[in-house]
Amino acid sequence: MLKFDFHVHTLQGDHSRIEVKKAVQILKSKGFDGAAFVDHDAIPERINVKDFLTIYGEEISTKQGHLLGLNIKTSIKPLMSAEITAKEIIKQGGVVIVPHPYDYMRIAINRGRLNPKFIHAVETRNARTLWPLASSNADVFAEKHGLPKVGGSDAHFYKELGNAFTLVDSKKTVNAVLEAVKRGKTQSFGKYSPPILQHVKGGFLKAYNRFLRKRFKKEG
Ligand SMILES: [Zn+2]
Ligand SMILES: [Zn+2]
Repeated sequence: MLKFDFHVHTLQGDHSRIEVKKAVQILKSKGFDGAAFVDHDAIPERINVKDFLTIYGEEISTKQGHLLGLNIKTSIKPLMSAEITAKEIIKQGGVVIVPHPYDYMRIAINRGRLNPKFIHAVETRNARTLWPLASSNADVFAEKHGLPKVGGSDAHFYKELGNAFTLVDSKKTVNAVLEAVKRGKTQSFGKYSPPILQHVKGGFLKAYNRFLRKRFKKEG
């Protein structure tokens, strides 16, 4: 089994702080075999790395929501329909993944917005998901249509890398991995740790610690 994070943003997109080289080091240290690097409507620059599989693609904005196109060579025009975008990804030999579906707090492609015949896999685990029921709804959707499930961290910062991931039953080559994804030889995993929750958690902990300090002071 290979461990993959299929959704990592990079420095090139101005919303992320991640450098591919450093991300590879971190993911390797966490036991990962590979990752897919994407940016919003841009393909990150390819770099050479050893002993780690790198896939490049982009998270394309379509009229119906975001769509991940992995292993594509040329950037695809944003804001076309999800169906035309998916066809373009397929034409380039890429893999079509629906990221964070049913996340009503984000621009996601949900049920009925894209014909399942144009979808290779559904990202049923996304560590940045803001809508609590999104993962279980995505599971139901994937199972109903017999679509493979993948997980990705959607990391924009180093500490988020690998927070959601995919185990792929495949040989260790990029082509074999992408083929295995299409055939559903995958399992998705992930913890629910969107940045907003981290902030709430951080704030709560601070307040709780303050409360304890006060209390212990009183009790002497
Ligand atoms: Zn997205
Ligand atoms: Zn993303």
